[in-house]
Amino acid sequence: MRGVIMHGPGDVRVEERDDPTIVDPTDAIIRLAATCICGSDLWPYRGADPVDHATMGHEYVGVVEEVGAEVRTVKPGDFVVGSFVISDGTCEICRAGYPSSCVHRIFVDGAIGTQAEKARIPFADGTLVATPGQPDPDLIPHLLAASDVLGTGWFAAVAAQAGPGKTVAVVGDGAVGLMGVLAAKQLGAERIIAMSRHKDRQDLARHFGATDIVEERGDAGVARIKELTDGLGAHSVIEAVGTQESMVQAISSARPGGNVGFVGVTHDVELPGQLLFFSQVQILGGPAPVRRFLPELIDLIWRRQIDPGKVFDLTLPLEQAADGYKAMDERRATKVLLTL
Ligand SMILES: [Zn+2]
Repeated sequence: MRGVIMHGPGDVRVEERDDPTIVDPTDAIIRLAATCICGSDLWPYRGADPVDHATMGHEYVGVVEEVGAEVRTVKPGDFVVGSFVISDGTCEICRAGYPSSCVHRIFVDGAIGTQAEKARIPFADGTLVATPGQPDPDLIPHLLAASDVLGTGWFAAVAAQAGPGKTVAVVGDGAVGLMGVLAAKQLGAERIIAMSRHKDRQDLARHFGATDIVEERGDAGVARIKELTDGLGAHSVIEAVGTQESMVQAISSARPGGNVGFVGVTHDVELPGQLLFFSQVQILGGPAPVRRFLPELIDLIWRRQIDPGKVFDLTLPLEQAADGYKAMDERRATKVLLTL
């Protein structure tokens, strides 16, 4: 089969890889219908994370081709959406709602790499969710978004306790931040402030439910959020970047007693103790437990209540994955869908 290998920073190639086979009785083999490039794939691409001949990709939808003897909830022919973290679905951590920290977790990136024609998915019952039937082709980008960016934005909004009567501020206008806006809207937030200085992303944020746009960032951005909230700060803040500046901005934008959901993969972030102590906010984040939300998200997409696939602004065939990485690295694309 064909699949992406990142040889080193900036060096993405589509090469021949071995076809996956059933190894454990809990495995499923899926044939990908679509996959995509994640903002987090840019960390190794830019040399910020080490990379050496890594299989890439962790977002996926497709059709089950084969299952191991112990798989119960999906069968050959099913169209499935999977989480970017493999989880058994049965351990105490999974049952508590945190499958992305499952005691048996495997990150799909590197270990499996779904920027490929096929993939072996371990713990299929705990990781995959079948759709109600074969999707219309136009639903596929929306379902693919559920695999990571939507699920991650959703978790951020839940962690930030977005809901009726709440003002939600979203730090970060990448795909996950935009999905955080969508999630906050679906969860019933009264006011959603998207922080963005890019016209096209502002427009998309408004489409997904943003009521206000703040272009300032850093201290000026925090001051703007305070101005818009009677000097108090937002009830809920979604952090979807992962830098020192964005984390400090997020925590500083929340009111005392408020909640911050952070899902940007933090790099070199050191939070000042005094900021943490005196901000008096509740902070929850980390790798999103997407599998927890998949049944609900698939249902919303299936009933055409949400259109998260609009975050894909460039579609390329898998063979041109290198062009997709380049487009995202150069910020010519927010998120790239790869067709098979
Ligand atoms: Zn588990």
